[in-house]
Amino acid sequence: MIELCGCFRDNGAMSALPPYSVRVSLRAKRLQMKILPPGKVEVVVPKRFNLKHVPAFVAEHRQWLQFHLGKMAAAYVEQPLLPESICFRAIDESWRVSYQEGSRNRVIELAAAELNVFGPDERHARQALRQWLQWRAKQVLPAWLAQVSAELGLAYNRVTVRGQKTRWGSCSAQKNINLNRALLFVSPEAVRYLMVHELCHTVHLNHSPRYWALVSSKLPEYEKYEAELRQAMAAIPSWALPGFGG
Ligand SMILES: [Zn+2]
Repeated sequence: MIELCGCFRDNGAMSALPPYSVRVSLRAKRLQMKILPPGKVEVVVPKRFNLKHVPAFVAEHRQWLQFHLGKMAAAYVEQPLLPESICFRAIDESWRVSYQEGSRNRVIELAAAELNVFGPDERHARQALRQWLQWRAKQVLPAWLAQVSAELGLAYNRVTVRGQKTRWGSCSAQKNINLNRALLFVSPEAVRYLMVHELCHTVHLNHSPRYWALVSSKLPEYEKYEAELRQAMAAIPSWALPGFGG
């Protein structure tokens, strides 16, 4: 953190500047300002830049800063670290979630529909909850895929379950299928479609007209589930996403 120099401190308006830190970068070509979650301001300064001009630069961008700091703060209020409840549409299962401080991360299923999440703080408890989601998805999705594979008569090699931000599933040339654990949050019909989609890639490893003809022969109304999945990505609760808030 650097001190604002005297001339700026005398100016009442300038004293409202948010605190910020300064980092000298060998690679930076110009002054840059960054806001890092949950609301830290960092000024990146090129090597030969005279640091005495930094406060004026921050002051010049004060409105921009206040706007974005406010927005970030609001986003953090709207998205609590831990959910109060979890709804797995895919398997028609809901859980009430309560948090308790504890020295290690763990999740206990207290009774049907009730989860107790432990951790030294909510951020760690959130990690525990994410691991529990992974475990629950692994219990459900591979067996479901095996069933759909048998129904369609399309074989695959191995299945993995992962947390990914950008795709619901994938299929490799070796016929290994990867499923996103967040599939638990979408409708069972959409999960089944995703499985049909990946299993059809064991025949055509592309999205050619022949591939879509095969999908359509297995699931004629596939387009509506394709649309559902496209929208559902944005609706995955933030606690369940890898890399969001630790
Ligand atoms: Zn595909």
